[in-house]
Amino acid sequence: KVRVRFAPSPTGPLHIGGVRTALYNYLFAKKHNGDFILRIEDTDQNRYVEGAEDYIIESLNWCGISYDEGPGKEKDHGPYRQSERKDIYKKYAEKLIDTGKAYYAFDTAEELDEHRKDHEEKGKTFIYNWHNRQKLKNSLSLSKEEVTKKLENEEPYVIRFKSPQDETLALNDVIRGEMEIDTNILDDKVLFKSDGMPTYHLANIVDDHLMEITHVIRGEEWLPSLALHHLLYKAFGWKAPEFAHLPLILKPQGKGKLSKRDGEKMGFPVFPIEWKDPKTGEVSAGYREEGYFPQAVTNMLAFLGWNPGTEQEFFELDELVQAFELERVHKGGAKFDPEKTKWFQQHYIQLADNDMLTERFMELLEKREIKSKKDYTRKVVELIKERVVFVEDFWDQGYFFYIAPTSFEPKDSKKAWKNDSSQIMNELKEILGNVEDFHSENLQAVVKGWINGKEIGFGKVMMPLRLSLVGALQGPDLYVIAEMLGKKETLSRLETAIK
Ligand code: GLU
Repeated sequence: KVRVRFAPSPTGPLHIGGVRTALYNYLFAKKHNGDFILRIEDTDQNRYVEGAEDYIIESLNWCGISYDEGPGKEKDHGPYRQSERKDIYKKYAEKLIDTGKAYYAFDTAEELDEHRKDHEEKGKTFIYNWHNRQKLKNSLSLSKEEVTKKLENEEPYVIRFKSPQDETLALNDVIRGEMEIDTNILDDKVLFKSDGMPTYHLANIVDDHLMEITHVIRGEEWLPSLALHHLLYKAFGWKAPEFAHLPLILKPQGKGKLSKRDGEKMGFPVFPIEWKDPKTGEVSAGYREEGYFPQAVTNMLAFLGWNPGTEQEFFELDELVQAFELERVHKGGAKFDPEKTKWFQQHYIQLADNDMLTERFMELLEKREIKSKKDYTRKVVELIKERVVFVEDFWDQGYFFYIAPTSFEPKDSKKAWKNDSSQIMNELKEILGNVEDFHSENLQAVVKGWINGKEIGFGKVMMPLRLSLVGALQGPDLYVIAEMLGKKETLSRLETAIK
């Protein structure tokens, strides 16, 4: 059975790159009727950020990326927070020592710095592996007695992986294919730290094994760790999962990795939902708060590194599940295009249910302290839906259904209001004042008849009328607007404009 995991570290808010990793894992799992697991990798106490785990879970929920196992959804492979699995890792680190695949190292940070400096002076780089092991303080260079004594004296130590000498590893990646790595460039990575916590590498491999993960789908930044992970599986005698490293997400200009700063500079969010930094109080924008629908965000993310190989561009989450193939993920970086998300948003708001939109718009009206009736607002929604991208736009495009214009757009005013406009509007006011049936069809018949009789251009009437009712030369059908406003309000707006 396919089992995949998303394994974020709660070191801050999940940016959209992280959400894409989660999404691809989810799509792959669902496509193969497998399980999608959320595992929180919180072994690095120094980098732990308050609220980050909740943020991750809320973000995934908002996107509709639901996990089968994880914090709050405990199943057989739990617990799903590494800090709650602490006791597991030491045992495995010691197992590697017993089999000669790892060793104790007692070098202090200062000593290692010295070695580094020494090497630099000679124009070399210091690698902690077979090149230097014998000169350093570890259980491969020291005598058995010395090591036992140090351990008994509780001298601080780390456990390092003994990377092999002169081997060529053949690695495979679902997206990148075969790769060869020379083990001589690998350093003996720390697996277990002096603070009693495992490093990412050890905890990650142990958990992927114990949680029976079949496919590791993660960001390209982990590709350099693949050789070590491969060796660790071998050292434990475990079958390694398949690996797929997702391409980087690049700045809109195409050069370099997309960063938080890019979003701030160019005014688009790089986070799924708003994030408030618990230390600085700084707020970073999120797609949810900016008014995007989750489908727009997941559709956009799906195409950041993948395409279906067909012309189809719109995919709701369940359609993505059907279409997604890991083999179709490309290895080249994916350029981020903020406009594309807007374009998806425009599409999904047109498909959205009018009752839902009405409800959301009414919440906005309430925030503006505008009382609105549901039926009326639903009609407004139907009338201007095709002009909106965000729910917010219902206000920008339809404020005049709720409040009389208080000022007139100068540009439009100049265009619409001529010397004879006051007089014409006065006459129109008279005519409309006598209309009993204020339905748009009837209004249209009456006004058209009147204009034809007067032999003046339509623009001479319709432009100042629109300006009077809307405050600008925009909006849907004028007769419909007049019907919606009703006779009293229509006449009153005409009167204001004439003055
Ligand atoms: N905890 C790692 C991260 O934050 C997980 C990497 C992996 O998926 O192996 O990205």
